[in-house]
Amino acid sequence: MLKIRDLNVHYGGIHALKGINIDVPENKIVTLIGANGAGKSTTLRSTIGLVKSSSGKIIYNDKDITNRKTKDIVSDGLVMVPEGRRVFPNLTVEENLILGAYIRKDKNAVKKDMKWVYELFPRLKERIWQKAGTMSGGEQQMLAVGRALMTKPKLLMMDEPSLGLAPLIVKEIFEIISEIHKEGVTILLIEQNAKAALEVAHYGYVLETGSIVLEGKGMELLNNDEVQKAYLGE
Ligand code: ATP
Repeated sequence: MLKIRDLNVHYGGIHALKGINIDVPENKIVTLIGANGAGKSTTLRSTIGLVKSSSGKIIYNDKDITNRKTKDIVSDGLVMVPEGRRVFPNLTVEENLILGAYIRKDKNAVKKDMKWVYELFPRLKERIWQKAGTMSGGEQQMLAVGRALMTKPKLLMMDEPSLGLAPLIVKEIFEIISEIHKEGVTILLIEQNAKAALEVAHYGYVLETGSIVLEGKGMELLNNDEVQKAYLGE
């Protein structure tokens, strides 16, 4: 569904991605793990057209989307939940969700998806009228995911959805990732919580200073000595 080929990204003199290759097959969960500054966010940001690549190709559903406009990529169903719960703080929960669907014309399907999002996140339903900025970190993260779902993604890219959340909420977020996947959404997940990510993912890539150094099935990476030493603290 998504193929990243020999992708290079530079920020001025910094060579942030050094010819990486990633495959995200339809209906799978793929994860990208790595330390701070490895280039994980850059991979997602360049895929969605927020950062220009200097060379390489990004193919989505057999279409070359390299350096295309973000809005066109999103309307083709490739959607990102950015890092850090970017919700509109002065708007209510419901208004944030409605905004997620603003490019859609299929109003009946939008209503159905809204119902689905409220089923996934009962907490959001209880807080329909609350200003997003006054919600807890975990609730705002749920809202950010809910808003992305309102865009009707075919492929959802998530940038560290569990960052800074309490263990119980992290568990909830990972359960919801599985639920979203069961509904037919393909997922590319970035995580520092390597254990939880590899447990849920079919396939994983390890990124180190801009290069993929290791890849394999989620369970294989979970049992890999190097991964355990470097990312699982074992
Ligand atoms: P983290 O887990 O800390 O979010 P990451 O793996 O997502 O890290 P990136 O944010 O992709 O890493 O950053 C990769 C490298 O590119 C880092 O060295 C970072 O400092 C650099 N970088 C990222 N964005 C910019 C920018 N806008 N201008 C200059 N350098 C940048």
